Amino acid sequence: MFNLILFGPPGSGKGTQSEKLVDKYGLVHLSTGNLLREEIANKTPLGLEAKAFIDKGQLVPDEVVIGMVDSFFEHHKDAKGFLFDGFPRTAAQAVALDKLLELKKTEIAAVLALEVGEEELVKRLLNRGKTSGRSDDSDEDVIRKRFNVYMTETSAVGDHYKKARKFQNIKGEGSVSDIFNSLSDSIDKKMKKNA
Ligand code: AMP
Repeated sequence: MFNLILFGPPGSGKGTQSEKLVDKYGLVHLSTGNLLREEIANKTPLGLEAKAFIDKGQLVPDEVVIGMVDSFFEHHKDAKGFLFDGFPRTAAQAVALDKLLELKKTEIAAVLALEVGEEELVKRLLNRGKTSGRSDDSDEDVIRKRFNVYMTETSAVGDHYKKARKFQNIKGEGSVSDIFNSLSDSIDKKMKKNA
């Protein structure tokens, strides 16, 4: 298996690039944000619980998210690899993911982190909010709160994978296709090394 984490702050392009990368490399896209929004749309108890956190720009509790990922794995036993987008977002989630992958006799091959300046991120998110219908993209206070959470809770995920020497920064500003090419170059190199 080849498992990849696409890392970076809200608005850094993880969703856009993930769609293209899963197509190119035949990986299964696991976006915890998308899974949570599906739960909300289906009005499940999990969705109702998650919505309160998401609307405030806070993280959904680790045990909820980890349980959701575990059950996603159960439903995708034949995957030849996963692309994780928006997960893990805390050190505890990173440790849990490593353990879940170990049970599957696999591991994270690389963490590619999209780097984008904060003002560009705010601009992108407010723009996305106009068409996405996502309430957490429409309010600048909620957006700033999400950046704050990223700095205080999610940056630990970067440290976790830096220690494991799996972390790499990628310039996340420029055209979608240039960024896609940079990501693809890095992935190709990793795949060659792992082959
Ligand atoms: P995203 O679509 O990845 O930007 O996620 C939207 C929102 O869903 C986040 O601001 C969090 O409230 C919640 N969320 C998504 N993924 C996670 C996660 N791995 N852990 C906790 N909360 C999450």
